[in-house]
Amino acid sequence: MTEVTLEVQGVAATNPYRTAQRQFDQAADLLQLDPGLRAILRQVRREFTVNFPVRMDDNRIRMFTGYRVQHNLTRGPAKGGIRFHPEVSLDEVKALSMWMTWKCALTGLPYGGAKGGVICDPATLSVHELENLTRRFTSEMTVLIGPDSDIPAPDVNTNSQVMAWIMDTISMQRGYSVPATVTGKPLEIGGSEGRPAATGRGVMTVTMEACQRLQIAPEEATVAIQGFGNVGSVSADLMHQRGFRIVAVSDVFGGIYQPQGLDVPALLEHQRRTGRVAGFPGATAVSNAALLELPATILIPAALENQLTIHNAARVQARLIIEAANGPTTPEADEVFLQRGVTLIPDILANAGGVTVSYFEWVQDIQSFFWEEAEINDRLIRIMRRAYQQMEELATEHRTTLRMGAYCLAVKRVADATAVRGIYP
Ligand code: NAD
Repeated sequence: MTEVTLEVQGVAATNPYRTAQRQFDQAADLLQLDPGLRAILRQVRREFTVNFPVRMDDNRIRMFTGYRVQHNLTRGPAKGGIRFHPEVSLDEVKALSMWMTWKCALTGLPYGGAKGGVICDPATLSVHELENLTRRFTSEMTVLIGPDSDIPAPDVNTNSQVMAWIMDTISMQRGYSVPATVTGKPLEIGGSEGRPAATGRGVMTVTMEACQRLQIAPEEATVAIQGFGNVGSVSADLMHQRGFRIVAVSDVFGGIYQPQGLDVPALLEHQRRTGRVAGFPGATAVSNAALLELPATILIPAALENQLTIHNAARVQARLIIEAANGPTTPEADEVFLQRGVTLIPDILANAGGVTVSYFEWVQDIQSFFWEEAEINDRLIRIMRRAYQQMEELATEHRTTLRMGAYCLAVKRVADATAVRGIYP
C-alpha cells in the first residue's frame, strides 16, 4: 500500500481541493483508516476535461472548457450538479465531487459523488447560446452520464431549463426519452414535486434541529444569508415562515440589511422584478464581506466557497453557522470557530436536501410512478433529521466537531463498501 502525503505543499489556502483533502485527512486520522483505503478515497477516480466549440448568435465560434469529475462510484452511480461560472476550475470540481460522495454516504443515498462545471459567464450569453453550450457539453459527456452511471443536477447558475436541455440531448442520442439521466428537471418531463425547494427545506430542517439543541427560539433568532439564489432564497422564505427574523441577504450585486427583519415575500417579489436584492425599500446597503460579520444569531453562507477564512472568522458574530453553500469555510476558519465555541453545521449535511430529493426524482423516473409533495417533504425531513442525529453521535464518540462527526460517518460507510467489494482485479 502506498504512503499518503498528508500535506498539499504550495497550494493556496483557498484551493477547494486542498480544503476537501484536509477535511478527509482529519477524518481518516480519527477513524485510523487503513492506509490503502485512505489512498483510494483521498483522490478522485475520474477527471474529464473537454474543450468544445459553440456557435454564437453573431455566427462566430467560441471555445469553452468544461469538466466532469467522478470522485467515487463504490456505493452506486455518481451524482452531482453542474455549475456554470467564470471561476470554475478543475480543482474546484474535484473538491465538489468529493463532497458529493460524503454527502450521499452521510444521508444513506445509494450514490457515489460527481460534479461538473463549465467556465463561462451565463449572464453574458443569450438563451440560444446557453442552450447550444449546454447541449454540446452534454453531448461531450455522453460517455459518462446516464441513469446507471452518472446523474447530473442543477448547481450555481444552472436550473431546471438547463436540466431539460441535458435530458433532451441524451434522449435524442439514444432515440427514446431517458428522464432518469438528470434530476432537477421540470415537472413536465419527469421532475419531482418538491425538488426546487428541497435544498432550502433541508437547510431549514437542520437549522431547526440545531436551534432546538442550542435552545434558540426561532422568534428570537436573527439570520444573515449570503447568496439569494435557489438555495439562499428558498431557505430565507421557509425560515421566515417558521418565525425566524431574516435581517440581511445578499447576491452577487451586493447585500441589504434591516435589523428589524426583512419582509421576505416582498423581497422575493422585488428580486423577481429587478433581478437583485439591492434597492429593496427600507433596507440599508451592505457588502457581501460585511454581511458575514453582522450581529446575527445565525449565519448562512449560500453562495460560493471560501467565504469564511482566517481573515474574517474571528469577527463573525453568529453563534450558529449553517453551511448551505459547498465549501464556504476554510480549515483555518474551522479552527477559529471551534476555539470560539461557534456551532457549525457542515455543508455535507446542511445542503444535502437537494441530492436527497434528486434521489427521489431518479427513483420516481425509474419506476414511472410519481409521489405527492407531502410524501416527498416528509421523507426528506426524516432523512435530514436521522443524518443530523447520526452526525452528532459520531461527533460525541470521537470527541470532535460536527463536521468531523459527519465525515467519520460518511468516510466509514464508503471505506467499508470499498473494503467489502475488494480491489479489482
Ligand atoms: P444559484 O446560482 O441559484 O445562486 C447563487 C447565488 O449566489 C446568487 O444569488 C448569486 O447572485 C450569489 N453569488 C454568486 N457569487 C457571489 C459572490 N461572489 N458573493 C455573494 N453572492 C454571490 O446557486 P444555488 O443553486 O443557490 O447554489 C448556491 C450554493 O449552494 C453553491 O455552493 C451550491 O454548490 C450549493 N448547493 C446547491 C444545491 C442546489 O440544489 N441548487 C444543492 C446543494 C448545494
